[in-house]
Amino acid sequence: MIENREKEIVYIDMDNVVVDFVTGIEKLPSELLAQFPEIDGKRKGIDDAPGIFSLMDPYPDSIDAVIALTQSTKLDVYLLSTAPWNNPSAWSDKLKWVHDKFDTGIRDEKHPERENHLYKRLILSHNKHRNAGAYLIDDRLANGARDFKGKHIHFGEADPLELRDGEFPTWLSVLQFFCTKGLLEATVVEEFARKHKKLGE
Ligand SMILES: [Mg+2]
Repeated sequence: MIENREKEIVYIDMDNVVVDFVTGIEKLPSELLAQFPEIDGKRKGIDDAPGIFSLMDPYPDSIDAVIALTQSTKLDVYLLSTAPWNNPSAWSDKLKWVHDKFDTGIRDEKHPERENHLYKRLILSHNKHRNAGAYLIDDRLANGARDFKGKHIHFGEADPLELRDGEFPTWLSVLQFFCTKGLLEATVVEEFARKHKKLGE
């Protein structure tokens, strides 16, 4: 039998999936941070701090994991993130972050797509359910994730407030899932696990 299978579309959220949101808060200048006082452990409106999205570190293991997914011949990978409506810098900061973190170091005028693992694959939306695809990797249910028509890979440790059962607590668990679906080579997952020292944990 000849297998003529189209690529499966995978959407990946950014904040607390690819991007470690709290690291942006920690790096804000103190005078700016003071405008968002901490009340009951939360800084209300911190999403709207100018420039905050440019300061964030990658979420643990995320860069290698996303690159592994983009390199699968069976997957078609996009970032699908929400940028705060009242923070214009967040929209450009997210694009710059993708330029910076997923740059391949390859420069090719004839093939600009080779310059970035996620070249022209950033979607910013408050309505994620409007995007058709097989998988959405997202730590939350907000901004349409709850109504996504494909499988929602609910990323992160178990959290009853977020109705998250903890099935996908790490990037390794996500890659293993795609491996069991036959969408990612086992050798790729093993190499990732070795590099991130999580084999046998
Ligand atoms: Mg998120």
